[in-house]
Amino acid sequence: MVNGELLKIKLTVHHSQLAVKKMLSAEIIAIGSELLTPTKIDTNSLWLTEKLNETGIEVKLKTIVGDDELRLEETIKDALKRSDIVITTGGLGPTEDDITRKISAKALQKELIFREDVLAEIAEKFSRMNRKMPETNNRQAFIIEGAEILPNPNGSAVGMSIRIDEKFFIILPGPPRELQPMFETRVLPKLRENAGEIFVKRKILRVAGMGESALDELIAPIYKEYETVQTTILFNKSEIEIHLSAQGKTESEAENLLSDLADKIAEKVGIAVFSMNNETMEEVVGAILKETGKTLAVAESCTGGLIAQRLTKHGAVSAEVAEAMAKGIRERAATDFGISVTGIAGPTGGNEEKPVGLVFIGFADESKVKSIKIILPGDRFLIRWRASQAALDLLRRKMLKSF
Ligand code: AMP
Ligand code: MG
Repeated sequence: MVNGELLKIKLTVHHSQLAVKKMLSAEIIAIGSELLTPTKIDTNSLWLTEKLNETGIEVKLKTIVGDDELRLEETIKDALKRSDIVITTGGLGPTEDDITRKISAKALQKELIFREDVLAEIAEKFSRMNRKMPETNNRQAFIIEGAEILPNPNGSAVGMSIRIDEKFFIILPGPPRELQPMFETRVLPKLRENAGEIFVKRKILRVAGMGESALDELIAPIYKEYETVQTTILFNKSEIEIHLSAQGKTESEAENLLSDLADKIAEKVGIAVFSMNNETMEEVVGAILKETGKTLAVAESCTGGLIAQRLTKHGAVSAEVAEAMAKGIRERAATDFGISVTGIAGPTGGNEEKPVGLVFIGFADESKVKSIKIILPGDRFLIRWRASQAALDLLRRKMLKSF
């Protein structure tokens, strides 16, 4: 989520007349038969919509199409008739059912061109992983003529961006980990360039311990005074978010409006506002603990470790600590086993001696306490996930051996 980040919206000027604001319209086509089953959700379009909206681009339509040539071709053609920006996701894999390249080219009446340089990069990625590139990956080296290639540092499928008159046709890979950085670094800057001269700034305030309607009653008289700020109140799991989106002719005008209104709301609502910049509850609590130098122990029953997980304390990372944790928790909870994880999940906090990805896993049972040291690749999310997997696997192995 972007707060207070500078954003622009397209502004079209009709000859000598006054400036008339026209937002660019976008539509998203999520491709993949699995997305039409009850087990797989199209999350890409949610993420893309957020990014586009923040940039002042309105998403007018989303479509989910299976790996079906006729329907996909029709969908792409229709989309290009009605929307300024058309974005497809998925279907760029190397297998027979990945038809996005072929059908997009067909819908645009353009050729697919084999690119040695793209193939060389794919082959290079495979060789870096010590794997031989399967023949089928050749497919991923075909590019629609005239398309700009969007490199993919996180996978083998490159994306494409094609300008058709005033319109953008953008082809992105399906895996969110590949799509998101590609969109942020390669696509968003281009879309922003094509936007115009209205500045939009956003802010999210968060409120806890209060109902939605009570909050609205309290603050509606304040926000209604601000005609150029859009205020949205949303209930989200366990808290209320107040989304403020201010428009101004200059960056500072938008910014001033935003902070004026936010301050007035905060003053009126008082301590129930726990975050002025979209920080989470755990970030706020963590910051207070840190600032005041206080420590915290958490004993959880029905939350099953969620509080500790949300606060994720940064402790000492070592084998001794992992073992002490496993032993301590086992004894205190009077269980048969104790497992523990301590490590550096990143993105910061690593150093030469203790790099990001360094994880110690502790295990304790009645008779012994052990720990293992592993170094995990990946980003923060993956490191944490892989560490939890390794801890559970260690427990599984120990249990199987002793039974
Ligand atoms: P594909 O590019 O079709 O080979 O898809 C690669 C992976 O990305 C698969 O695991 C898909 O399920 C996933 N994926 C494709 N489209 C989406 C989407 N719209 N939202 C979330 N995941 C997706
Ligand atoms: Mg697919």
